[in-house]
Amino acid sequence: MTNFKFSQRSESSLVGVNPALVKVVRRALELSTVDFSVIEGKRTVERQKQLVAAGASKTMDSRHLTGHAVDLFPVGGDWNNYKCWLPVLDAMHQAGKELGVPLRFGVTWTDSPHDKPARFLDAPHVEIPV
Ligand SMILES: [Zn+2]
Repeated sequence: MTNFKFSQRSESSLVGVNPALVKVVRRALELSTVDFSVIEGKRTVERQKQLVAAGASKTMDSRHLTGHAVDLFPVGGDWNNYKCWLPVLDAMHQAGKELGVPLRFGVTWTDSPHDKPARFLDAPHVEIPV
C-alpha cells in the first residue's frame, strides 16, 4: 500500500465521472506502485468536437461524454512508451476486479491491459464499457 494522493487537478478531473469509476480510480491509487494523475474525465460535447477536429479522438461516441472514462498519466511517464502506463493499468485492473466494475483499457481495447497492444492504442484511457 502506498501513500499517493491526488493533486487538485486530478480531483477536478474526477468531477462528473461515474461514481463507480471514481471508486476504482481511488482504489487504484492505493494499489499502484507508481504515482499517477487523472488528466481528463468527463468531457463536454464542445471539447469532444475540438478533439475529433484535431485528430486526437476518433469518435463523437466517446465514453468521456457520459463520464464513463478517465485518462490517466503516470508521474514521469513517457508519451512515446506505453509500457510506462502498465503499472497504473495493472492497479486499475486489480481495483476493477476487487470492486466488481468492468473496465476496458485503451491500450488494448479489451478488458485486460496485457492483451496484444492495439494498433491505435490510447494508453491513458480506461472506461466502463457500454
Ligand atoms: Zn480517454
